[in-house]
Amino acid sequence: MLSYRHSFHAGNHADVLKHTVQSLIIESLKEKDKPFLYLDTHAGAGRYQLSSERAERTGEYLEGIARLWQRDDLPAEFEPYMSAVAHFNRTGQLRYYPGSPLIARQLLREQDSLQLTELHPSDFPLLRGEFQKDSRARVERADGYQQLKSKLPPPSRRGLILIDPPYEIKSDYQAVVQGISEGHRRFATGTYALWYPVVLRAQIKRMLKELEATGIRRILQIELAVRPDSDQRGMTASGMIVINPPWKLEQQMATALPWLHKTLVPSGTGHTTLSWVVPE
Ligand code: SAM
Repeated sequence: MLSYRHSFHAGNHADVLKHTVQSLIIESLKEKDKPFLYLDTHAGAGRYQLSSERAERTGEYLEGIARLWQRDDLPAEFEPYMSAVAHFNRTGQLRYYPGSPLIARQLLREQDSLQLTELHPSDFPLLRGEFQKDSRARVERADGYQQLKSKLPPPSRRGLILIDPPYEIKSDYQAVVQGISEGHRRFATGTYALWYPVVLRAQIKRMLKELEATGIRRILQIELAVRPDSDQRGMTASGMIVINPPWKLEQQMATALPWLHKTLVPSGTGHTTLSWVVPE
């Protein structure tokens, strides 16, 4: 089942959180000259037009990236993320939103490499087109979870693995834990960043319990809720689970997260979470 299209949601509050965290991890990896791999298991189309019928229909970006765009009081933690977004909007008008692979493309260096997978028959060619001239990137129409077995560890023994499934099938909540466990067995020192939506809190509690049961350590949870938990339909919050976060990330998010909440949710509903699921 591949009915999910990210173009309806691009640039929403969940993307802003996810891509801020992604950008900060990439910037930390760049502090050493040694190359690293950026592996994106569920890469999406790459570029999203915010004036498209799909984006306009939901208007989600208006309560996401549009609230940060052209603000002059952004904390320094947002600089790499916003510089990547600005690259795709050089006229100064917010028209395009770069997805995770394009944010990585902007931030990575010559010596780094990208491994991207996407299964959707319409999104895959769009993604491949974006990287046609980029010799650092390998783009495949393949199952993202499989990459955690076949592409790890990277030759450089350094890397960020972003796992961002649509969770349109319930088994994704188990598949991500299984995939991380397999990846971690092969490449224990990599940084893994898993995105999750909070639709039903019980699903996330179960996923975290299963993750804890793998025995993996150094698991940081970063969550931004725009509304309180609910048993009604719809996403009330989203978060990132980061395994082996760069040492600065917790401190950076301690500044960025409250600011983001205040900026994205002027009414003040919801909450933020920054805590260790499993410490050192
Ligand atoms: N990571 C992207 C970003 O931040 O810009 C968004 C990705 S979107 C949430 C999830 C994508 O996963 C969809 O484009 C969907 O087609 C794709 N997908 C679903 N199942 C997949 C699988 N097993 N392997 C690879 N891609 C898959």
